[in-house]
Amino acid sequence: MNSSIINFHTLLPYGLITLIDGVIIFLMSLHLIYKGFKAPMVRATFLFCASLVIWLISGGLTIVISHLPIADLVGRVFYIAWVLIPISFLNVVYTFRGKFGKQFFVFGVVASIFVIMAMAGIIHEVHYNYFGFYPKLKYPWGILINAYYFSTVGFALALLYIEYSRAKTSIRKNQALFLWLGASIGFMLNISETCYLVSSFEIGNSLITTHMHVTNFLLQLIVISFYVFKIVLIHRAIQGKTLSKLLDDKILLSFIVPANILFSFLIYKYGYPLFSWGRIGILIAFSLLFYAILKYRLIDLNEILLRLLVYLFLSVVFFGMWVIFVITTADKNTPIFLSILYGLLIIALFNPLHIVIQRYIYKLAFPTHINYQKTLMDLSMKIVSVLDYHRLIEIINDTIVNTVGSSTFAMLLHDEESDNYIPIAVYGVKLQNLISLHPMHDLLRFLRLVNEEVFRDVLEEENASLSNEIFEVFDYFKSTVAIPMVYQGYLKGVLFIGERKNNQLYTRRDIELLKILANHILIAIDNARLYELAIRDGLTRLYIPRFFHQRIFEEILNSIRWERPLSLLMIDIDHFKSINDNYGHQIGDQVLKKFAQVLSEEVRENDIVARYGGEEFSILLPETDNDQAMAIAERIRTKIQKTEFDKGIRRTASVGIATFVAQKAFVKDKLESACTRVAVREKAKKIKTELIKRADDALYVAKRAGRNMCTNGGEINILQ
Ligand code: GH3
Ligand code: MG
Ligand code: MG
Repeated sequence: MNSSIINFHTLLPYGLITLIDGVIIFLMSLHLIYKGFKAPMVRATFLFCASLVIWLISGGLTIVISHLPIADLVGRVFYIAWVLIPISFLNVVYTFRGKFGKQFFVFGVVASIFVIMAMAGIIHEVHYNYFGFYPKLKYPWGILINAYYFSTVGFALALLYIEYSRAKTSIRKNQALFLWLGASIGFMLNISETCYLVSSFEIGNSLITTHMHVTNFLLQLIVISFYVFKIVLIHRAIQGKTLSKLLDDKILLSFIVPANILFSFLIYKYGYPLFSWGRIGILIAFSLLFYAILKYRLIDLNEILLRLLVYLFLSVVFFGMWVIFVITTADKNTPIFLSILYGLLIIALFNPLHIVIQRYIYKLAFPTHINYQKTLMDLSMKIVSVLDYHRLIEIINDTIVNTVGSSTFAMLLHDEESDNYIPIAVYGVKLQNLISLHPMHDLLRFLRLVNEEVFRDVLEEENASLSNEIFEVFDYFKSTVAIPMVYQGYLKGVLFIGERKNNQLYTRRDIELLKILANHILIAIDNARLYELAIRDGLTRLYIPRFFHQRIFEEILNSIRWERPLSLLMIDIDHFKSINDNYGHQIGDQVLKKFAQVLSEEVRENDIVARYGGEEFSILLPETDNDQAMAIAERIRTKIQKTEFDKGIRRTASVGIATFVAQKAFVKDKLESACTRVAVREKAKKIKTELIKRADDALYVAKRAGRNMCTNGGEINILQ
């Protein structure tokens, strides 16, 4: 054997590539789970890939660190990981029971036999022929091992692909295509490279001949055509052509197994891929993967690198300490419990230290980064207790604009009455662009289908078939991403978010934060809505008496505290009964609705209008003295007189007015000594009863005096 070609420097790239490939497969499966593929299929595939990854990573490490003493240890991990592969394969088989045909089980059995044989071969290798970097495939088992290896890897990738191709939208499909192609091209080419190494053990440098170069070239052609075929297959599948059936497990399996046996036989026999081919392939693979990762914002690369650095730093520190520990205690016959103690120390310290350092580095590296946990905590604290719809909207506005830094945003919520999605909170959007969306609007249908955030640019590039209607909405709201707000399975609203103010891209974490925000907002708004439902009357949407009684009590307390007047109007429709009698109850209801509307329009924002009884209403006027209240009552009465409630239906109303005045002098002189909390509340209760009674009596007087008039019940004071 010519050892000169297997020196460390020649090996390093292969080890690195294997390592990176391992990590890529791992990330790819992780990504699937992360994106919400919760199917058992993906989980099993993930486990399967994970075991492959351990194998790959440790294999890669064995090569990369082959000149270090721990190579031997990693090498053993590499061999032990072989055991994991059949175990996780069994897991896959178990999960897919019933989903796949007989072929699947035949494949399973054949693969398992391969594994057992391979294990036998490898154990033999480890014992007798272990070089410290890679299995020396000298035995006939080599072909079988390779065949199994190729098949299982191909199988895992195919499974991932099937899952991908089931994705509902082409966004996911294209994501899938890039990741899948990237990972598998890199993977397969890397395998052929590795096989090159393995075969060169036997062949040696001196035996490279023209004949071999030619064979090698042909071999590469086979590899490439294998891939071209796969790509065509996938392309057609994505276009929805019937060929997607070819991806059916049976055809796939019957294709993968024999093709890989042949392939590995060829590699084993003549394996000598040209380097340049492999390098170009790996370059393509990496470009594809990086393109996909960047384009679809799959991973925050900066963040991952930072995390890796922190881990690396801590590992080096702890390992260094261990080395020092071993060196300084080597001659003292260190008791074993000291080592155990050190182990425990690492376990206890690693995580806290890691968190602290990471936080510190984060602050240094991303000073503008949002503290997500804090933002979410703050928001949750704020919104759980807020039942006021308008206040809620303000808080939401503030969070999205100031914390996330969006230049524009619009939140559309489903309005049950009009059955449309209407804008309820907007920022940076022109008024004339505030459109409502019908539930069957293309964009809403699309969002219901994908059930995840949609980026405008991605959509534009990849869904040429989508209607213009969708993009118009993005334009109207000046947004780059639309996030569906789903609550209890229904699309309750959409959050449109515009570009970042600082022109930075939104990361995955930003989008996650916005999604959680959207969820919180929905719950809060739903609470507020339920509360509104509970305190308002179904017909007129005015406050119900229970709420009114609560508010009048609070307002009296306020009046006492701030020494401000408070007036109450009691309003009753004159001869309402005759409307019911002449036109029926339905028309009667319509009149009541219209009447309530007139009342609400005639008063200020913070006046409280309630439906006190059937056709009796009350209006609470904070900070309004008796003269002002009389004027307001008169204004309302006149307005009602002029209003036509239904075709030809006009009615007048009678109003009773009463005012509570809390003059300073009274409070100072008479109540000061008794101004405890309880005393004031007791007083307020009495005032409340008296105020209502005064207004009611005044109303009665108005009725008796001939209706259609306002009667003043006068003022009451705190000594009442
Ligand atoms: P007055 O001028 O003395 O107030 O005469 P009125 O007919 O308005 O007074 P009365 O209290 O005798 O009648 C009130 C009527 O209001 C009785 C009831 O049928 C009707 N009413 C109460 N609630 C509703 C409702 O929710 N819908 C309809 N259509 N009618 C209602
Ligand atoms: Mg009446
Ligand atoms: Mg009445």
